[in-house]
Amino acid sequence: MNTYEFMTHSDEETKTLASRLARQLKPGDVITLEGDLGAGKTTFTKGLANGLNISRTVNSPTFTIVKEYDGDIPLYHMDVYRLEESEEDIGFDEYFHGDGVSVVEWPSFIHEFLPAERLDIQILYVSENERKIILKPANEHFDHVCKELLS
Ligand code: ADP
Ligand code: MG
Repeated sequence: MNTYEFMTHSDEETKTLASRLARQLKPGDVITLEGDLGAGKTTFTKGLANGLNISRTVNSPTFTIVKEYDGDIPLYHMDVYRLEESEEDIGFDEYFHGDGVSVVEWPSFIHEFLPAERLDIQILYVSENERKIILKPANEHFDHVCKELLS
């Protein structure tokens, strides 16, 4: 499969990219977001929410592992950082095969629960306002979604 790279120069650019991506998603899609603290995972998720016409403000789900938002498609925002290597299953399958789009921050902590068919996104800090965003689609659907972002 291909990988796709984008450079963004502000948080707004990252949100715009995510918002364009979101408009191509469908129920049951799973996206993972990898990157250090402050890389822009939650910022990217805010952009996804914009693209799904979610009006509520998306914040980092620090004290809850999953937050659900209503939009054109529901958004399940997961920050599984607190699960670390606990291997606790909080019913991930219900989300991953549900009617919404799942977004997982810190996916490495729950890799055994992740479906193979997903879009992996890595966000790399370049400088204060620059990020390199690398998309790795695992199937044709996500490859098509990524290709559309190039135009
Ligand atoms: P994470 O969820 O990965 O810990 P956040 O999204 O909470 O990261 O924070 C990213 C921070 O970096 C925000 O303060 C955001 O405004 C800032 N930022 C600066 N430039 C960018 C960019 N190009 N893309 C995303 N965030 C950026
Ligand atoms: Mg975050």
